[in-house]
Amino acid sequence: MSWALNKRLSALKAYVPGEQPEPGKYIKLNTNEFPYPPSPAVAEETANSVLNMNLYSDLNCTKLKANFEKVFGFGGENVIFTNGSDEALYLCFLAFCGPDKGVAFADLTYGFYSVYADLCGLEKTVLPLDSDFKLIPEDYYNCGKTVFIANPNAPTGLKLTVEEIEGILNNNKNDVVVIDEAYVDFSDGSCAKLTEKYNNLVVVGTFSKSRGMAGARLGYIITNSDLVKDIETVKYSINPYNVNSLTQATGAAVLENDEYYKDCIAEICETRDDFTKNLKKIDFEVIPSQTNFVFAKHNEISGKDIANKLREKGILIRHFDKERIADYVRITIGTPDQMERVYIALEEIIGGK
Ligand SMILES: *Cc1c(COP(=O)(O)O)cnc(C)c1O
Repeated sequence: MSWALNKRLSALKAYVPGEQPEPGKYIKLNTNEFPYPPSPAVAEETANSVLNMNLYSDLNCTKLKANFEKVFGFGGENVIFTNGSDEALYLCFLAFCGPDKGVAFADLTYGFYSVYADLCGLEKTVLPLDSDFKLIPEDYYNCGKTVFIANPNAPTGLKLTVEEIEGILNNNKNDVVVIDEAYVDFSDGSCAKLTEKYNNLVVVGTFSKSRGMAGARLGYIITNSDLVKDIETVKYSINPYNVNSLTQATGAAVLENDEYYKDCIAEICETRDDFTKNLKKIDFEVIPSQTNFVFAKHNEISGKDIANKLREKGILIRHFDKERIADYVRITIGTPDQMERVYIALEEIIGGK
């Protein structure tokens, strides 16, 4: 134990990110990254932005925000950009939780919710998903906490309907509900429109999973102007220049080239559905996914063995050594070629046991 670490943090268990090996060493399907390169125009605009990096970045992300509005339909007083959506989530924890306001989230969901709650010293209400890993909306009704829900959820890939989200919003009138839409572009749709109808909804999203910017760190928040002000108070108390100028330029260019990304997203969804069918052929149980990953288990081989054996074959996936899901593996959807190679490797593993 460290002599210097503040006692309040002595038991804190930090988030454990998926491994980031040197590029090219593995087929890397362990952290739900985008498998395609940026469009050429994006690379060029990013390179040009380097010429202005002697200046602090634009506090209002003006160009990025204008382009975001064209693609997403939200801008102005309703959007904040962040250094990845992890920062967006952290700002929400700081702004809407405290000694008098704990948090509620699912037992199987994005690992950072629990870490941020511990970092902030919050009371946690952990609500179990049902036996099919479905989130039970009614469990969250009038819970008296700030609610955090990943929708679609990770690592399950399942998604609540807009009506189910509305039920949670209607039954938490005095509390903020944060919907984390990291994977929404691979799903049947966003609930961001509801921010116009409900004053307690905050939607968080990211350019990491569907727009190829995981390494550039760009996230966003969509909510009403009152809650934007609350979050900005916190943001300006930590790091006003939270989105650097290179990332702002990249994000603006990505949105200008949105067609390219939409095509890639469509291909990822198609690849996911083909890969799911293939997994079922070799006796995997696969949870229907609305994300860029699948969560699956095999009845004869443990999740841990599958992950280890794939690693030996140069393929990295994610296994969580956690109650209820230890049998499962989470496999990011890569290019069709990569998924073909994963399928062949799995056939060999299962054939050989
Ligand atoms: C990946 C992920 C994030 C964070 O992504 P950033 O790279 O920080 O934008 C947030 N929530 C969920 C559910 C995720 O899977």
